[in-house]
Amino acid sequence: LLDRQAGRESNSRSYPRKLPMAIRRGKGSYVEDLDGNVFLDFLSGAGVLSLGHNHPEPLAAAHRQLDEFVHGLDFPTPVKDEFTELTIGMLPEPMRERTRIHFCGPTGANAVDAALKLCKTATGREEIITFQGGFHGATLAALSVTGLVEQKEPVRGRMPGVHFFPYSNCHNCPLGLKRDDCQVNCAAFLEKALTDVNGGITLPAAVIMELVQGEGGVIPAEVEFVQRIREVTRRLGIPLIVDEVQSGCGRTGTWFAFEQYGIEPDVVCASKALSGMGLPASVILYDEKLDVWKPGAHSGTFRGNQPAFAAGVATMKVVKRERVLENVRARADQLMVHLQGLRELTPYVADVRGLGLMTGVELTDPETGLPAEALAKRVQWEAVSRGLIIELGGRDDCVVRMLPPLNCSAREIDQAGRIIRESLTAALA
Ligand code: PMP
Repeated sequence: LLDRQAGRESNSRSYPRKLPMAIRRGKGSYVEDLDGNVFLDFLSGAGVLSLGHNHPEPLAAAHRQLDEFVHGLDFPTPVKDEFTELTIGMLPEPMRERTRIHFCGPTGANAVDAALKLCKTATGREEIITFQGGFHGATLAALSVTGLVEQKEPVRGRMPGVHFFPYSNCHNCPLGLKRDDCQVNCAAFLEKALTDVNGGITLPAAVIMELVQGEGGVIPAEVEFVQRIREVTRRLGIPLIVDEVQSGCGRTGTWFAFEQYGIEPDVVCASKALSGMGLPASVILYDEKLDVWKPGAHSGTFRGNQPAFAAGVATMKVVKRERVLENVRARADQLMVHLQGLRELTPYVADVRGLGLMTGVELTDPETGLPAEALAKRVQWEAVSRGLIIELGGRDDCVVRMLPPLNCSAREIDQAGRIIRESLTAALA
């Protein structure tokens, strides 16, 4: 099956080539391959399966909705209404009244495209500010604001007027500073470019950022960095878009990561885990003052996926009732202890970081400081061969990343911690 598919599928598909396994089924935090081997899935469909595979409640809700009807186009429906109410209700109280929702289609990139377009329409401006190392999706607009060079290097003709600024990536400071010398110079640099007549930038339509760069190597932004950007964008009347496609829907221990940064964005992009079980949906949540689109201004065929809304409603109810966000925080602390413990194995463990259950271990050569991507690849391979699925990311794929289900158990975290330790030991041998 694997060979047959690999022969047919586009060469650009990476998973079947990186991890040669074919999946038959999934349940909870585990998947089973065609040979009956069971794997602990700490990738969760790239952060999609917040309640693991086939959680009974979203699954039953989606089944019921499938029997009712599937595609609601753009019409109001009871399940879409309930989904909207609950989604808005997940926002901090002061934002709820003035927040509008737009259903964008199935993917995260659809939400990013919509957010950029909305801000361009609302401000009448063209330029966009974004950050080095960020990832926003594979459509041409989302790709244009993506700062991970290898994702887009061969593509010509990207959206013009995009400016990349340094992110608060303190472990690999883009300005070459040590923490003690730093006055959040990265944010100061952006502020200076925006306010100085010699900054070379006209007032942009938006600033777009991740609060934790996921694909970029699990890099949580510094709080002062984000707050300073919020302050300057507000002062200059620039909409701030936070891309919470990966960090949102509980992943970081609050429903949205921005809650932990003490800011209120103008636009929030959400997708991946919105339905909690892998049915596609994406939205932007935005301030009413940006509600300038005329009817039909931004359409899309797949905006009315009723089973996804039904699953999303059920997921949000489970998250509240079962205090899943508390579990995220507790399991994240537990996982961090395991990952910090890897430092004693080898000086190749250069950094251990994360926010909630978005976690990563950066592996670099202690002599040269260069990415140890071959070691990271071996760790991933050793982990898979021991029954744990994890992902790589960051510069040259030297960061071992984990996105466990938000409702994973303490036992599963310990199992993953043990396997990662064994895998790193084996990879070093
Ligand atoms: N934004 C962020 C922060 C992401 O992590 C991703 C996906 N990894 C996207 C956007 C794009 O989402 P999709 O692949 O669903 O288009």
